[in-house]
Amino acid sequence: MIIRTIPLGPVRANTYIVTDEKSGSTFIVDAGAYNPRLERLINDKKIEYILLTHGHFDHIMGVSELKKRFPDAKVCIHEADAPMLSDDMLSLAFAFGAGVDKDLKADIILHDGDELPFGDKKIRVIHTPGHTKGGVTYMIDDCMFTGDTLFCGSVGRTDFPGGDSKELNDSICRLFDIDGDFNVYPGHDMNTTLSDERKNNPYVDWRK
Ligand SMILES: [Zn+2]
Repeated sequence: MIIRTIPLGPVRANTYIVTDEKSGSTFIVDAGAYNPRLERLINDKKIEYILLTHGHFDHIMGVSELKKRFPDAKVCIHEADAPMLSDDMLSLAFAFGAGVDKDLKADIILHDGDELPFGDKKIRVIHTPGHTKGGVTYMIDDCMFTGDTLFCGSVGRTDFPGGDSKELNDSICRLFDIDGDFNVYPGHDMNTTLSDERKNNPYVDWRK
């Protein structure tokens, strides 16, 4: 798998472009904007999914345009965050002077434990609420896309509507409890590994 990272949109949320070399299939994780740079990187790809880690505006503002260019790509979001896709208030777009597409809808509503086929692999969905009610982490191979749940040396904010610090800690502990090491690709800033975060993240109360 080839993973490319582009920070996009008003607060530079990471957009990930993940391509399976064998099948040529690609999925995108979050899209804070649609711009020529993103377009150059994906215009020859077969985009199967637009996977959303949660419904905040800074992760979804590029989704409508993406969906227009790639109508076959399935927009996926957890059921608890799905209403945020088309709602300026819920997505916080309004509070930050932005706007979202009122007609944007999910193609696939996700639940904890769902698996999305991708080439000869599967993308596993883990419900990780706490930053929002419907935050999810996507797992494939040794990679985790954690959105605004877990960052390198930090964790997501819990002071927005739907946020809950206990829930967030429980969600991250669930990730930490998964055996083995993973590359962690968060919603903002640089990537990290699960083993580093287990050892060094000062915001997580985790005991094995
Ligand atoms: Zn967020």
